[in-house]
Amino acid sequence: MTIINLENYNASLKDIYLITGQGVTSNIYVFGGDTITIIDSGNGEEKNKIVPKLKKIFSKKPNVSKTILTHFHFDHIKGLYELMDAYILDILIHKKEAPYLSDLNFKRIKEVNAGDKIILGEYLLDIIHTPGHSPGSICLYEKKTKFLISGDTVFPNGSFGRYDFPFGNHKALLQSLKRLTEVDVEVMLPGHGLPTFSKVNQQIKSSFMAAKNYF
Ligand SMILES: [Zn+2]
Repeated sequence: MTIINLENYNASLKDIYLITGQGVTSNIYVFGGDTITIIDSGNGEEKNKIVPKLKKIFSKKPNVSKTILTHFHFDHIKGLYELMDAYILDILIHKKEAPYLSDLNFKRIKEVNAGDKIILGEYLLDIIHTPGHSPGSICLYEKKTKFLISGDTVFPNGSFGRYDFPFGNHKALLQSLKRLTEVDVEVMLPGHGLPTFSKVNQQIKSSFMAAKNYF
């Protein structure tokens, strides 16, 4: 597991950290500030524990107030057990996938919808509903700094999320990718792999074209 301070790669990404893990596990993005927000939580395995990493990033006890999940796959949500043990936090997920988390006995679930806005310190995140990889997949877009937290919907270098898992849908994924080509993105923060900082709009267009030809 590695901690990357994203400000070192792009000066406008202040207070944003990426925690990478080992094995099949999601990236975890951490937004610092007065209260801390964690985006996705990894697969919950011992080697991917989050709390020790938060202690490394923040000198005083981290005031974690919420987590936002890009979608409900296990490699993104299982770290929630550890987070819930350590902090009292809200869990934000798209309304289509919220019932699934309730079934798993997660508490303090708050549904989000397309068009909702979430303030994280100086950032204002727009929720874009991007179904296809899963029914309630979301991307989070910040207009001012133009970063996109893209979950498993789109990846760098013309890649895109799988649609062959249960509840995946290739048509929906294609529409979601098309939607993302209309967004002006300078930094892509994907659910797996490393972020990308240059010619991102072009990369998203390539993903859309590749997905179109793939079907
Ligand atoms: Zn996934």
